[in-house]
Amino acid sequence: MTDRKTDMERPEENYASILQRQEDEKLFQGLGVSPGIVIGPVYVSAASEISVPDYSLATRDLDRELNRLDCAIEEAQEQVLKLKRKGEDNHGESAEELSLLLDAHLQMLASKSMIGGIRARIQTGRKNAEAAVMAEAKQIMARFAKMDDPYLQGKAQEVREVALRLIRNLIKATSDSYTGLKKGSIILAEDITPADTAQMDPGTVGGFVAALGGPEGHTAIMARSLGLPAVLGIPDLISVAETSQTIIVDGSRGLVILNPTDERLKDYRKRAKAEADENHALAGLRFTRALTLDEIELNLHANIELPRETEIALHQGAEGIGLLRTEFMFMNREQLPDEEEQYQTLSTILEAMDGRPVTIRTLDAGGEKLVQALDGLDPKAINPALGLRAVRLSLKHSDLFKQQLAAILRASLRGPLRILLPLVTTAGEIRQTRRLLKEVADELRAKGYKIPEQLPPVGAMIEVPAAALAADGLARVADFFAIGTNDLTMYTLAIDRADDQVAYLYNPLHPAVLRLIEMTVRSANFAGIPVSVCGEVAGDIRYLPLLVGLGIRDLSMSAHSLPRVKKRALALSVEEAKRRTEKIMAQNDPIRIATLLEDFNDNIQAG
Ligand code: PEP
Ligand code: MG
Repeated sequence: MTDRKTDMERPEENYASILQRQEDEKLFQGLGVSPGIVIGPVYVSAASEISVPDYSLATRDLDRELNRLDCAIEEAQEQVLKLKRKGEDNHGESAEELSLLLDAHLQMLASKSMIGGIRARIQTGRKNAEAAVMAEAKQIMARFAKMDDPYLQGKAQEVREVALRLIRNLIKATSDSYTGLKKGSIILAEDITPADTAQMDPGTVGGFVAALGGPEGHTAIMARSLGLPAVLGIPDLISVAETSQTIIVDGSRGLVILNPTDERLKDYRKRAKAEADENHALAGLRFTRALTLDEIELNLHANIELPRETEIALHQGAEGIGLLRTEFMFMNREQLPDEEEQYQTLSTILEAMDGRPVTIRTLDAGGEKLVQALDGLDPKAINPALGLRAVRLSLKHSDLFKQQLAAILRASLRGPLRILLPLVTTAGEIRQTRRLLKEVADELRAKGYKIPEQLPPVGAMIEVPAAALAADGLARVADFFAIGTNDLTMYTLAIDRADDQVAYLYNPLHPAVLRLIEMTVRSANFAGIPVSVCGEVAGDIRYLPLLVGLGIRDLSMSAHSLPRVKKRALALSVEEAKRRTEKIMAQNDPIRIATLLEDFNDNIQAG
């Protein structure tokens, strides 16, 4: 009798101690890509429900279905290996556990019994691949659940994870709409794409943490634009965190704390309050002009991706939109937006900006900015970063390009705008665009639209080394330049901006990058055309003295960076910046450059 009572109590005690362990505070160090502190409930994105299609196949479709399954397995193996590589950068117990877990996933993906079972369900059962995966997984899970050994029981969860990964790959469920979340939820996921971030509503989402991604990728940029604290590069969090647990994201330090202790929470609430007070004080600069100590005016604009960001831009005191990334209007949808829809969206933005200038960049799809609806036009490139992307894609598919140009021309009646072309490498691309623009204007006029006699200025992004090196020639055909330091750094240094494995090598302070910026500014000044910087360095106060010293007066950045950049501008002397920059530009060593710049910044702060 006594024994039986003990037997019944023991599992409860064990369960309690497991719970206790799960609730222990855990700290993770990653790559802080968007500053700020947020405390909220976890939402594990990968756990979101997916509906599994279930249907029977005709004999002629069996081979195709088996092929789909093979592709999904191959993709799953690549995903797991990527996570494993990421995990290898970390050390400690949790890194080891993660590695073992991922090895088990890899084994299952190669297992003759599991994969063989799925194949048999397709071949003989004539089931579609998703249903076959689900049925096989359920059978294996039921077998594990019946076993006495808790270790083997736990295997059922691994089978479920592998099956869900395969099903997600099969149905191409890459994004989550993040609806129905608790307010202030912190999203945890393996990978968050730029398209995913476009679905996040800062009113509901508090911030996010992902296993993969680099600091200058568009996911990171979107986080900064939306003001969402974010940390990337933490592969071992998702397997231990559960939806609804409490988590702290410290985007400035790249720290994530799961199940924080009361003491930690108290400390972080204090820090968050100090941060909010600082932001409040900075908000007082909203209507202040960005005049340097020697009274040189800087023009500070905002980069935006979505119409709803105009509100944030205005709130932070943007003088205009220096970069509208239109590709985000094309994401998360099966059909491309037609001319009318594009016109309506652009009109909303121009009207919200109320007479302030808006620079509209034409579709910059490709690379990491995948636009599902363009799949048919954009065949899998051998190297997407060097493929048919941006202005190349637009010029190749001129019908699509003409639709966007028509929407822009019609919207030009709603406010001052400029047209900016991404990834320009030759003057011919600008000339070709002008020809198309003229053609579109004539067609619109023939349809009765009132298009202004003078067409909007057409400018070029300078974001590949070729464009910077040949900037003198481009300046003869472009009306303005916008220097995209994100891609310019990536293409100059051959470092993928979204790859966390080489993030430590990504350095806009490399002399090669700085010299290309200098050449571009010189060519623009010689030709008498405006030049701005709209890459991420524009929003980082550390770079401001150097950019100003190089002759930049127009900067466009994520709206949340505007107040801090303005504050630094107010404390800066252009004359001093020029003198210091001359010294910096004579250096060959990026470390020496960083030291000189740091010294200058310390001086400004102290002054
Ligand atoms: C850049 O490359 O610096 C840039 C501003 O464009 P995007 O970040 O959208 O590629
Ligand atoms: Mg770019």
